[in-house]
Amino acid sequence: MSEKQANIHIGWSFDNSYARLPEALFTATSPTSVRKPELIICNDRLAEALGLGAEALRSEEGVAMLAGNLIPEGALPLAQAYAGHQFGHFNRLGDGRALLLGEQMTPSGERVDIQLKGAGRTPYSRGGDGRAGVGPMLREYIISEAMQGLGIPTTRSLAVVKTGEPVYREDTQQGAILTRVAASHIRVGTFQFAAQWAAAEELRALADYTVQRHFPQIAADDNRYLSLLQEVIKRQASLIAKWQLVGFIHGVMNTDNMAISGETIDYGPCAFMDAFSLSTVFSSIDSQGRYAYGNQPYIAVWNLARLAESLLPLLHDEEEQALKLAEKALADFTDLYHRHWLSGMRGKLGIFNEEEQDDELMKGLLTLMETHGADYTNTFVALTFNRPDDSALFSSPEYTEWHKRWQNRLSRQEQSVEEVGQLMRSSNPAIIPRNHRVEEALEAAINGDYTVMERLLEALADPYAHSPKQADYAALPEPSGRAYRTYCGT
Ligand code: AMP
Ligand code: MG
Repeated sequence: MSEKQANIHIGWSFDNSYARLPEALFTATSPTSVRKPELIICNDRLAEALGLGAEALRSEEGVAMLAGNLIPEGALPLAQAYAGHQFGHFNRLGDGRALLLGEQMTPSGERVDIQLKGAGRTPYSRGGDGRAGVGPMLREYIISEAMQGLGIPTTRSLAVVKTGEPVYREDTQQGAILTRVAASHIRVGTFQFAAQWAAAEELRALADYTVQRHFPQIAADDNRYLSLLQEVIKRQASLIAKWQLVGFIHGVMNTDNMAISGETIDYGPCAFMDAFSLSTVFSSIDSQGRYAYGNQPYIAVWNLARLAESLLPLLHDEEEQALKLAEKALADFTDLYHRHWLSGMRGKLGIFNEEEQDDELMKGLLTLMETHGADYTNTFVALTFNRPDDSALFSSPEYTEWHKRWQNRLSRQEQSVEEVGQLMRSSNPAIIPRNHRVEEALEAAINGDYTVMERLLEALADPYAHSPKQADYAALPEPSGRAYRTYCGT
């Protein structure tokens, strides 16, 4: 079969608008072929939504494309330039092991980036090998698809192929490539790069492109660059509130890992919290707790301030005026975030209307959860089904007191018990990707058994089902006496 026929069959429909941006922002780079590509997981539902034939993707040509051994027709592979504050330190970065193949134009008219992560060295690789290990790539697949199931904006995972080549980290791992699908890969760090190393008109071109691609509704605004900043602030306020509401900890909220589109991006040492605690950190490299659960909203606004700084020359001709506009926009984040969080938390507690003391009621529960080491997810499920167990939280007199306050609160709204129950069921997931379950699935997969991961993914696709089948995935890990640790895996 010729390459062209294979393409028609697979359904690729690429455009390459990013490649039409100023050259300073990227470098055309081809993937480096791998020895023995082997498909280990393919997201059929996502493939279909993208207009791709899942069967065809699994064919030899399809897998060769997912491995970077064959370039699909219409693709123009490139590595994107970006910068980033990594744990507070500014660095020049860029796609060091990822390549953008192009933008797939989907049957529903969307434009999404198709990126191969782990496809070989690029001009931005610095000392890195351009590769990725199978464990971290499957981890990104599982967690990103879990986020999608939870209704949280996220990049998606189309497939993972093993390369048949080893990668050398602390240990030797099997190499793998993840095909990542994103609204775009434009990051806060992309703007930082342009502001620092590109010409003024190149920064403007990037901003105009971003407006067209993500916020076309503001294109005609008087100051569209200010509107751009405001829109990104709004999306991040909404996104971070959603993370907090499910207990998701990103782990590396560097400015290069914050997408302008408002999708969660770059699943490294991320994890979901079990027992509620604001200071929860899983990442082995975050010894200071910079990216702890409770810090995420503050880090978000810090990152957004870096975006605002990068946009300053576009906001106003006079620097002082530009600064004022930026500061005013940034000041909105806290309130926006808090409103999203309150509204999400009202849902979790079955509350339909707004009362002044709601914040206090919610924080009261969280404080009790923290004091008694209560599991975040399961506590809300227990409240939803009125199934308190014999744990320390539910046995405490302070909880009884809180419960009374909550019940009084519910009685001050007109909705029925059924309506309250329905709201709570759709706001409180029965399951999250528990760390021990993710590890178990990864371990089996690394040893060639993909069924554990497939079952986990199936369950995570519908976390609000509240079906008996989910019970297994809701169970807490056996106490191990050791804190769970995640590793960057780069
Ligand atoms: P991350 O921690 O995944 O957000 O990556 C931070 C930066 O390091 C990005 O510029 C990556 O492209 C780069 N990087 C991470 N791993 C590698 C690798 N194995 N080879 C080359 N560059 C890498
Ligand atoms: Mg990154």
